Amino acid sequence: MENVENMSSERPIRLSLPSKGRLAEDSLEFLAACGLQINKPNPRQYEANIPNLPELVVLFQRPGDIVVSVRDGSVDFGITGIDVYEEHKGSNGEAMLLHDALGFGHCNLALAVPEAWEEVLSVNDLRQRVANLGRSLRAATKFPLLTGKFLQVHGIPHTLISAEGTLETAPAIGYADIISDLVSSGQTLKDNRLRALQDGVIQPSQAALIANRQALRTRPKALAMARQLLEYFEAHLRAIENLAIFANMRGSSAEAIAGRIFTQPTIGGLQGPTISPVFVRNGEKNWFAVHIVVQRDRLFRSINELRSIGGSGVVVAPVTYIFEEEPARYAAMLQALEIKDAENS
Ligand code: AMP
Repeated sequence: MENVENMSSERPIRLSLPSKGRLAEDSLEFLAACGLQINKPNPRQYEANIPNLPELVVLFQRPGDIVVSVRDGSVDFGITGIDVYEEHKGSNGEAMLLHDALGFGHCNLALAVPEAWEEVLSVNDLRQRVANLGRSLRAATKFPLLTGKFLQVHGIPHTLISAEGTLETAPAIGYADIISDLVSSGQTLKDNRLRALQDGVIQPSQAALIANRQALRTRPKALAMARQLLEYFEAHLRAIENLAIFANMRGSSAEAIAGRIFTQPTIGGLQGPTISPVFVRNGEKNWFAVHIVVQRDRLFRSINELRSIGGSGVVVAPVTYIFEEEPARYAAMLQALEIKDAENS
């Protein structure tokens, strides 16, 4: 019979995704946008696969449980919020953050007080108010660790009230004075006559990729999967900020056109422009095609710059991936793991 260690090192690599909550749908959308469509043969099953990554098994868990599973090594990778990661990661460093900005699930874990506490705008004001209360502050939260630390650092005597479900009603019902909860648009706070403190953000959050440190150190397949995931994620995240532009331009040579392009601030491309001859039907020799990548939010500036130096027939196309030599976060991960040879791992 194989021993347990062997069995666990030979099991397929596992990635856990949120089974419910705001991150659930967005995680699937994000992966699909990265080119990693999830195939869930049976919608009721808590297991799926990604045809493009056949060596990976996808599981679905609650966001907090994902951190616990990655921490204890029963799951190798997870996508979850930084908020729950920070709350549940534990102190042994086994759950590692590989990518901390997947670009969705943005929210803040923040302190909110009743609107009726008109004089309490900041954490300082809150400390003052608690001093006048003559007892500790009762704060309802699903994030006792982070909230407790924050209140302690700010010198506010407190009692944490762990609550499941809707927190926002706690102050109105009277079982807590304030809440510490996730805030996205702020609408829920408003609806419940609560107000976030100006400097009361305990933890800014968005979706993140986490991994089990031991798996990365001891299982080459896990390390290879980390690289693949980070390649896809980074190439996609870099791509969506950019657009590809093709334009035609008349000039005496490719060099002359490059010279004109470099006089402009926005249209230099990632390295520089690609300039190639256009074979015009009437045999005219001085037409060139310019291909550059520009930041999406600088599109119109770029088009104007191209026009100002004689660009015409400008075609703009979305970019699916931009791959760099090596994903920056993969390199950072190897460094954190003190692994030197990336290629052969
Ligand atoms: P909002 O009204 O947009 O500020 O959203 C607040 C409600 O949504 C609260 O009940 C939060 O617990 C929940 N919420 C907001 N953002 C997230 C998130 N990224 N992940 C999970 N729950 C969230």
